[in-house]
Formats: sequence, C-alpha cells, structure tokens
Amino acid sequence: MKSTLIIGGGIVGLFSAYFLSKAGVEVTIVDRTDLRDNCSTGNAGMIVPSHIIPLAAPGMIAKGISWMFSSKSPFYIHPRFDYKLLQWSLLFYKSANQKHVEKAIPYLKNISLLSKSLYLAFRETHPEAALAFQEKGLMMVYQTDAMEKEETEFAHLARKHGLEAEILNPEDIRNIEPNLDLKAKGAVLFPGDAHLDPGALYSYLKKYLEAKGVKFLTETQVLGFEKSGQKVLAVLTDQGKIEAEKLLLCGGSWSGELAKKLGFSLPMMGGKGYSFLQENQPEIKQASILTEMKVAVSPYGKHIRFGGTMEIAGTNQKIDLKRVQGIFESINRYYPDFQSKFPKESEIWKGLRPCSPDGMPYIGYAPGYSNVLVGSGHSMMGISMAPATGKLLAELHQQKDTTMNINEFEVGRFA
Ligand SMILES: Cc1cc2nc3c(=O)[nH]c(=O)nc-3n(C[C@H](O)[C@H](O)[C@H](O)COP(=O)(O)OP(=O)(O)OC[C@H]3O[C@@H](n4cnc5c(N)ncnc54)[C@H](O)[C@@H]3O)c2cc1C
Repeated sequence: MKSTLIIGGGIVGLFSAYFLSKAGVEVTIVDRTDLRDNCSTGNAGMIVPSHIIPLAAPGMIAKGISWMFSSKSPFYIHPRFDYKLLQWSLLFYKSANQKHVEKAIPYLKNISLLSKSLYLAFRETHPEAALAFQEKGLMMVYQTDAMEKEETEFAHLARKHGLEAEILNPEDIRNIEPNLDLKAKGAVLFPGDAHLDPGALYSYLKKYLEAKGVKFLTETQVLGFEKSGQKVLAVLTDQGKIEAEKLLLCGGSWSGELAKKLGFSLPMMGGKGYSFLQENQPEIKQASILTEMKVAVSPYGKHIRFGGTMEIAGTNQKIDLKRVQGIFESINRYYPDFQSKFPKESEIWKGLRPCSPDGMPYIGYAPGYSNVLVGSGHSMMGISMAPATGKLLAELHQQKDTTMNINEFEVGRFA
C-alpha cells in the first residue's frame, strides 16, 4: 500500500509524522543518513516566541559585512564565486527592510506561540519523555552600550506586540544567576520563552513514532522523482524506487536541491553552527543569549550547552575550529568564574540551519503540485517552530483549514 512519504528525518519531518500518524495516516520517513547527521539534535533547544524579527532585517547587512573580517565572529559568509550564494544574497538584501520586518512579525509570533502551546500539550500527553523542558524564559545579556540600545528597543517592540519583556539591571541578574559572576551591563528577560534538550526530544519522538508504526528508511538518499502531471508518483533513491500517495519535503538545508529536481526554486543556504557540552560548574541556571557574540547558553542541571556562529556555508559541513574558539572564548568573557574546557574535536557538534533568504520558513504546497507539501527553511528557529509546522502540514494534507494564516510562508514565493 502506498503511504505518505516524508523526505528528511529532522525535527520538522518527525513532528510532521507525529501529527499525520495521529490523524491515522500511514507514514514513511526516508533519510539519506542514519539520522545522526542532521541539525536537530545538538542545537540550543530554545523555544522562542520572543524571536519575532526575521534574520533578513535592516542593519544585518552592515553587521554581516563588519563581522566578515573576523575569523571568530558570530556571522560569516565565506566570500566565494557561487551562483546559488549570489542569488540567495541578492534575495536576502532585497528582504532586509522595515516593510518586510513589519509583515513578518505577526507570522513569526503566531507560529512560535502555536508551537509553544503544542510543546506544553506534548509534555502533558507524554510525561514519560525526559525533555529537560524548562519554562524559565530567555535572558538576552549585554555588555556594551550598542547592544543595550538594540536589546531595550527590541524589548519595547516585543511589548508592543503583546509579549512580556523585563529589562534587568546587574542586581536583577545576580538574583537570577546567584552561583557565579555574570559580567553584564544589563539584560532583557523574555519570560514566555523556554528551552529543552533537543537530543532527548529527538530520541523520544523517533522511538514513539516507530512504536506507532511510522517506518524509517535510513541511509536512503532521494535522487529524483517520477512525476505525472501535477503529481509525484514515486521517489527514486539510491536503494530503488518508492511509490508515494503524497510527499512532504522536509529536507533541511538540502531542500533547495530537492526542489530543483522537482522543477521549482526554493532558495536555501546552510547556516553552519556549532555547540558543545560542558560540566556546569559553578552552576549557570538561566538560559541566555550572550548578545554581542550571539552565543546561546542552555543549562540542563549538571551539564550545559554552549552554541553559536552562523556561517553561510551551502552544505559544507567541515568543522572550523577558529569559530568554535570564538564560542569558547565568549564563556569566560561573560562568566569569568566558569570552569570551561576546550572540547575535543569529537565532542563538537555541528549543524546546518536551513536558511531561506527572507528569514521566513516555507510551509505549504509546492508550486505546480497537488500532492507535494514543503516544510523547511526555519533557520535558527526550527526547534521552536517544528510542532506548529508539523500540525499545519498535517492539516493541509488532510484538506482542513489551517490553524493560522500561513500566506507569508508560501513555498512558491521565489519560484
Ligand atoms: C548551533 C545551533 C543552535 C541552534 N539553536 C536553536 C534553538 O535554540 N532553537 C531553535 O528553534 N532552533 C535552533 N537551531 C536551528 C534548528 O536546529 C534547525 O532549524 C532545525 O534543526 C532544522 O530542522 P529540519 O528538520 O528542517 O532539518 P534537519 O534537522 O537538517 O533535517 C533534514 C534531514 O533531511 C535529510 N535529507 C536531506 N536531503 C535528503 C535526501 N536527498 N534524501 C534523503 N534525506 C535527505 C537530512 O539527512 C536530514 O536528516 C540551531 C541550530 C544550530 C546549528
């Protein structure tokens, strides 16, 4: 019997399978790896309704250019001649304006709030899942006048859009982080944000789906498609042909290449980032972002994860130790007493964030197809938005009205 085929077993593919299997749909997930090489396991695990500004925003171009000259900076585009990069950069440049930001805000806010409510429901339905889910908010820490201005202005904007934001002074920070010194001028706390352990979420979800009958075809790379009119009939893989009734394209940073094979344009670049775990000593309690260095700090009791850097890398997965060094040096720059230890190369996790050029995900029907849906391009917010994306795709698959308006996520906007 033909089933619905999901290309990509990252968190977006898994949450899509979750909602489809709940609706009684037979699902198969096909992935080119053994599922240990995607972006969904070692990230910072933050659920961020506060992140209402897309990556493509005014000011990002100037910041990006100034950061390009430092090997340890948080954002980097390796200058190279690459037509895909040129096309993507041009679209990024065109989107980095105030009008786009204003249009994007309600969509990003609504999808993240929907996702957060789905995470809360998920935690209640699956109390056995040890997700290390913590609703302690997210603290945006700053040391400089420039970042203070940026973050406090953003706090006012977030409040204007109905989100809670508290501006903290160093004494407030000491109360939140009592065990060690945090060198900061101040911070903004977004109490509505949360964080979890993405590796624990991923393992739990995979086991749960297997138990529910979702099939996983791993180490199976999709190479092409068999089509007829507006339908894909089968996917062609290095392990043979697989027939499909409907298809979901959730291929992360590789989704653009797959879309090209389907005959439409889905501009996408991998935004490479790294993370590593440390013993949490002395214990840092609060999930934070060290804003000058864009380093994410995700504490899980005895352990803590530090992650960051965004290197527009296409699909190149090589580890650049200078960038990891940049993350590492940030730790003691903000927490001088923290007992940090540079990780061995085998302890460094890397992931490619699937970045669309306008900073908005692609969610909906593929242009020109009646049985192909796309869920991709979530950039630095894939964990945050995955449950909502899965729910929305399942609704479209079942020909139901979607829970929220998804016009700005249109898949064919650059086709
Ligand atoms: C350092 C870092 C920190 C981050 N922190 C956060 C955070 O705090 N909060 C947050 O919300 N997000 C965060 N992110 C972003 C988040 O991790 C991603 O947005 C998310 O994991 C993307 O999920 P995905 O399912 O779209 O892609 P992926 O997880 O990359 O999955 C895509 C899958 O598709 C498969 N695939 C591709 N092509 C093919 C093919 N041809 N055939 C078969 N299979 C194929 C791949 O093998 C892969 O398994 C972070 C990312 C990084 C790098």
